[in-house]
Amino acid sequence: GSERKARSRTPAYMTFDDIGGQERAKEELKEALDFLIRAEDIQRLGIRPLKGILLTGPPGTGKTLMAKASAHYTNSVFMAASGSEFVEMYVGVGASRIRDLFKEARTRAVKENKNSAIVFIDEIDVIGGKRDGGQHREYDQTLNQLLTEMDGIHTDETPRVLIMAATNRKEMLDPALLRPGRFDRHIEVDLPDKKGRLHILNIHAKNKPLSDNIDMELIARETFHFSGAQLESVMNEAAIYAMRDNADKISQEHLSLAVDKVMLGEKTDRESTK
Ligand code: ATP
Repeated sequence: GSERKARSRTPAYMTFDDIGGQERAKEELKEALDFLIRAEDIQRLGIRPLKGILLTGPPGTGKTLMAKASAHYTNSVFMAASGSEFVEMYVGVGASRIRDLFKEARTRAVKENKNSAIVFIDEIDVIGGKRDGGQHREYDQTLNQLLTEMDGIHTDETPRVLIMAATNRKEMLDPALLRPGRFDRHIEVDLPDKKGRLHILNIHAKNKPLSDNIDMELIARETFHFSGAQLESVMNEAAIYAMRDNADKISQEHLSLAVDKVMLGEKTDRESTK
């Protein structure tokens, strides 16, 4: 089968507790996910079903983690694809891959005895950009197929399907995607504040030997504007510095060096893409 993995660096199993910071986003998301869990009530009360949740925010803030945790929270199967997977395909191929993605989600849910499936599409802006009537016909078909799939979701069917998508360029999206009954629930997943950074650092320190006198608060303060992905890198780089020193434990010095390294790495990345 066409096994799709969200991210090789993301573990398969993910709960909201594994996600640092993002308290408001997590709350909003859980509230929205109740639509999936309480499907009977939704139907009984005649509430318009929720079909799509859009996660917006800068890269590396945990949008993919959120989608995975949502699948765990709702006991759903999880299928993921990235908008960029549909690039440079022959006309019609993108559309048929969208169709297959949804078909496979339903098949897997039945096979695994689950009531629901979450289909996650990262970088939705790649296929969901504003249609310009001609320029990018092959994307148009892919997007049209996605809209068709969304419109074809019914709440009284089992398995129920929920689409989650992520973008850091919400303003680029075709308005058709944002209409009621499509992606009408938006959740912002922003860069973490200091408290969030501390939480994320501690999550990624869990499996690492740290010296007793580590001041993690200081690291959280020094990493202003870092994303969750960058904070994960900091912990990883610090462990590498410890290894080079043949040290048993990660020291404050290793952590500080790692902060500099990640900060510098970002800069050179940005310069080289100029
Ligand atoms: P992109 O927009 O680049 O797809 P994303 O927002 O989907 O990024 P993720 O793929 O979820 O980001 O995060 C990448 C990695 O960064 C995660 O696997 C995790 O190691 C780390 N990470 C990011 N955010 C958090 C967080 N809030 N808590 C813990 N770890 C995080």
